[in-house]
Amino acid sequence: MADSRPRNDTPLGANAGAADTTFVLDIGGTWTRASSWPLSAETVVTTVRTPSRTNSPEMPAGDLVEQLVDLIVALVPDQVASKVAISLGAALDHHRGVVYGSAPLWGDSTTDVPISARLHARCPHVQWVVTNDVTAMLAAYRAAHPELHTTKIAVVTVSSGIAARYDDPNSRTMPTDPAGLQGEIGHLPAVTNGLHLDCACGEFDHVAAFASGPGLRAVAEAIATRTEPDVPANHAVVLSPAAFERTFAAALDADDPFAHHVLREAVNPIADVFTYLLTTQPDIERIVMAGGVIESIGMHYHRAVLRRMRQRGVYYTSNSHPTWLDSVVVLAQSPEETSPLVGAAILASAQSGRAA
Ligand SMILES: [Zn+2]
Repeated sequence: MADSRPRNDTPLGANAGAADTTFVLDIGGTWTRASSWPLSAETVVTTVRTPSRTNSPEMPAGDLVEQLVDLIVALVPDQVASKVAISLGAALDHHRGVVYGSAPLWGDSTTDVPISARLHARCPHVQWVVTNDVTAMLAAYRAAHPELHTTKIAVVTVSSGIAARYDDPNSRTMPTDPAGLQGEIGHLPAVTNGLHLDCACGEFDHVAAFASGPGLRAVAEAIATRTEPDVPANHAVVLSPAAFERTFAAALDADDPFAHHVLREAVNPIADVFTYLLTTQPDIERIVMAGGVIESIGMHYHRAVLRRMRQRGVYYTSNSHPTWLDSVVVLAQSPEETSPLVGAAILASAQSGRAA
């Protein structure tokens, strides 16, 4: 029987040199990036579409897993005794390297995927180290900010999915639950304003169903198709999957009332999660938002989150100390600051061949 006690022994931010890693991959719901390691100004990062539920909604999860393993093996150069660090956008047991699920990658499939073992079976001469992407982002942020070594930080990714990760700055370990998980906030229940949306995990009304990249489009569609007297019918947002992201960002920049209405409705659930976080863990000094959605519309997203937290935020304190929220909830300053490629290499060095 598996040990069910909460565990707390995943070191973060150690061995920042990551000298023994030779190749790194960052696998997200939409894109996979791959590069030799260490990165340099001359390094070419290969970017390809991930075989995933996000990109191929009709494909069975088992086929997507097979294609992903094929892709990883194809991208990694054939080197003897190399060490490959992988950042994976999936909920995984931080101790066994088993993937429990990933809505952006495999939809509502709940079949465990022993990804490290599958890769080892294909290429036993390679040392595979698979890390959760948000854990990697936190490790990269830690490495970029040594001045914050005593500060309790949570990194939150907002992309095709949503998740958060924090560590204990004193021990440099990452607390996990009995399943080896932490911070899967995208699948917390969302309090919504009359909208009801399916989550890619198979449940409904989860935070990611509203506040993720696909969630934003779902909220826009839902609002556009219901008649509301205060929502303008004519707007600059094109709802098709191919055009939404670009036109939504442009509409926010142009102060389109529909776009801002959609954004406010979409971010309320994640703003509420931040409120719960700061209410129960007021020692969190920084919540860093990063990921693809933030890179695209971060300033607008940040403003909408803070608006909700000022209106319905931390009891008493949101009003009595209004600047507190501004100092805690911040945007990553650049994609490099929370690079999963960098974080995966750091963790691979610290973890010595097992899942991180
Ligand atoms: Zn969900």
